[in-house]
Amino acid sequence: MEKEFAKAKSVYLPILLKNRYGLKVKAQGRNFGVDYCPKCSKTEGNQNKVSLFVVAGVWRWKCFACDTPASSSIDWVCFAENKTAKQAVSIINEVVTDTIPIPSTAPVKREIQETCFPEVIKRLMQVGNNDAAKKYLQKRRIGSEVVDEAIQRGLVRSLPEDPYQAKKALEQVVGVDLMRKTGLLKEGKQWPAIAFRPVVFPQGFSGAEFRMMGVPENGEPKSIRYGRLVTPWWWAGQDHEKVLIVEGAIDGLSVVQMGWMGHVLALPGVSSWNPEWLGRLDTRYPGIEVYVGLDSDEAGMEKTEKIMAEAEAAKVKARRFMSWNFKDWNEALMAGATI
Ligand SMILES: [Zn+2]
Repeated sequence: MEKEFAKAKSVYLPILLKNRYGLKVKAQGRNFGVDYCPKCSKTEGNQNKVSLFVVAGVWRWKCFACDTPASSSIDWVCFAENKTAKQAVSIINEVVTDTIPIPSTAPVKREIQETCFPEVIKRLMQVGNNDAAKKYLQKRRIGSEVVDEAIQRGLVRSLPEDPYQAKKALEQVVGVDLMRKTGLLKEGKQWPAIAFRPVVFPQGFSGAEFRMMGVPENGEPKSIRYGRLVTPWWWAGQDHEKVLIVEGAIDGLSVVQMGWMGHVLALPGVSSWNPEWLGRLDTRYPGIEVYVGLDSDEAGMEKTEKIMAEAEAAKVKARRFMSWNFKDWNEALMAGATI
């Protein structure tokens, strides 16, 4: 039976849904989206309602409307056809496998890196004090009240400011094995690049951005992102009727400091915007208005127009909301502006 469960679990879920249930499956990068959830049914046309994705070589699904966490193909059949797990396994194996390719369950390197990353974040949460982040954010004029709240919410963390201490802390708390497995420590290298980037902005438990405190030299990147970007950096506000999209967690904290009361979604960069998030936001907070507040540079302006068009197509309310006279929100905050 164990073997049969494993076989059923390894089914190619997008094709199972297409063939057995006639669902329209929309490709979204490496993932797929469908407008039907076997638990809370259908939302016509909202292809972002349920996401299909691969974890460690196995297809899973997750519903953003009823918050069903990552579940297996077997679970899908159980809910959809009101069957026991054993019956669902038989259905998948006997009825459908002939027509469905079974993918190899050997996870690729990138997937190992991404699936192991949540453990890194979990361990990083135990790295002592957050002095480096506090010092850095204070210089950016983020008040200690907002910083403490962000730390409490798991949106800010730090490694020791001194790279030697940071390396030591990483070796002790995260461990060399896990650092190699997740790509934090490159093969043949002794120093993880994040030892020089002590300010950490976790993005849920799926990924994180590591940032330098000073100015980068020799063209090194100021910040590096690891893990996968399932959820962006998200500040839950008190006003559920609006969400402000900004670039980077520092701008995210800046708008909170400036008095923004709605939610804040901070992209690590304009290229990481995922149009699926519009549908998800509107599903989670029906009627929410999206304020697009990216940087006032060419890339930011271009992306803003793109998001406005996507919002219109998705029938999600949106408006342009830039820090007009300033390059970004932190610059506006530093100049004493308020929202
Ligand atoms: Zn659902």
